[in-house]
Parts: sequence; C-alpha cells; structure tokens
Amino acid sequence: VDLGLFGGTFNPIHLGHLRAAVEAREAFDLDKILLIPSAVPPHKKAQEIAGAKERLEMVRLAVRDVPFLEASDVELARPGPSYTVETLQHFQNKFGTHCVIYFIVGIDAFFEITTWRSYLQLFSLAHFIILARPGGRPGGRIDDLGNFIVKHISREYEQDKTREQYRHPEWRTIFCLQVTHMDISATQIRTRIKEGGSVCFLVPSQVEDYIQKKGLYR
Ligand code: ATP
Repeated sequence: VDLGLFGGTFNPIHLGHLRAAVEAREAFDLDKILLIPSAVPPHKKAQEIAGAKERLEMVRLAVRDVPFLEASDVELARPGPSYTVETLQHFQNKFGTHCVIYFIVGIDAFFEITTWRSYLQLFSLAHFIILARPGGRPGGRIDDLGNFIVKHISREYEQDKTREQYRHPEWRTIFCLQVTHMDISATQIRTRIKEGGSVCFLVPSQVEDYIQKKGLYR
C-alpha cells in the first residue's frame, strides 16, 4: 500500500490543498491520502485559529465525495501539540513495513523543518513529496531546495538526473512535485471573510456553507 499523509493547519482547508492532493496521488500512484489537521499548531499564532473540531469537520466535508481522500484525527486525538515524527511512527506501526508512506508538504513548510521535533528521523520514516507552491511568500523557492537538503538534512542526498528527486543511500527519497499553481492560502481566505467578502470557488461549497453556518473567521 502506498499511503500519502498530508498534514496542515487546514484553517480552513481550501482548493489549493485539495488540488495538490489530487495531483500527488496521480503522480505517485498513491492508494490513499489522509489529510491530517494538526493540534495546537506549534509554529502558528494561537489567535485566528478555528477550533480543532471545526477544522476537522471542514476537512471531512471537503473530502466527503472523494474516495481516495480521507480526514484523519490522529493529531487532534493526541494530547498536546502535534509532532510529525509521532504521526509517521503511528502509521508505520499501524500498517507495518509493507506500507510505504509519502509525507506531502508544501515547500514553505518544508523550509521550516529544522524547527520540527526530531526532524532528521523523519527521513528514515517516509518519502517526502514537496509541493512547489506559488505566491510571493517569503522563503520558498524550489531552486533553493538542493542546497537546503545538503546543508540541513544530509550531504549524502544526491539529486538524480531528472532533477526531480534526491536520493540517499539509506534514507527515503525526497521528491519535488510541480503542482498546478493555485495561489490560495488559508490566510487570504480568513481575511476575505473578516472583510465580509466571498470565498466561493476558493473552498469547496460544503466548506463555504459550514463556515457561514458556524460564523467562523468573522
Ligand atoms: P495559512 O495561510 O494559514 O498559513 P495555508 O494555506 O498555508 O495556511 P496550511 O494548512 O498551513 O495552509 O497548509 C498545509 C500544507 O499545504 C502546507 O504544507 C502548505 O505548504 C500546503 N499548501 C497550502 N496551500 C497550498 C497551495 N495553494 N498549493 C500548494 N500547497 C499548499
């Protein structure tokens, strides 16, 4: 089984996340992708974050009709902040060694990986699929990836000829995936709602309805 794990705050989930998941599944022929909202996000400000229950519910609603996408509450069910290393260990233990795990992450988040708990261990637990993400966000250029990997992860990672993957003699592979550029962020969505604007076609309609019904982000 090839399993994708896609973590995030999902505050709220939007079409940028969902399209990236669809493309990752196709590119790597994944059987399933679990979308995993994180608990008290360790690197994000506590304000402006919808409750865990609401964020999970929005992910559930978003994937309701997509057979290969599933919401997972593993990080919310654990007490305290979420650590990716624990999540990867959880799934490795649960599904055993015949399950190959791909951890999906946007490049902006990947460049913060040195702040994650036991981050070097992650590279022996899962392959990485790094999504090239558009937008004028600071610190996230795919061209800087090779240097970053060598400097902060391991000198033994080598880029292959296709230039789309970095291989290591012992650890798992780091792949880059160019996804359709959808310059949508949850921050932009929250701002629009606060200003009374519409988020139609930025989030799935079921999520839009839920945000409205619950009065989130106003
Ligand atoms: P915020 O604006 O609140 O920081 P966000 O839109 O970046 O939120 P997250 O929940 O933090 O959403 O993102 C989860 C993961 O999805 C991260 O790895 C992030 O890089 C990636 N991601 C978010 N939006 C996109 C997008 N439009 N295209 C590709 N990847 C994305």
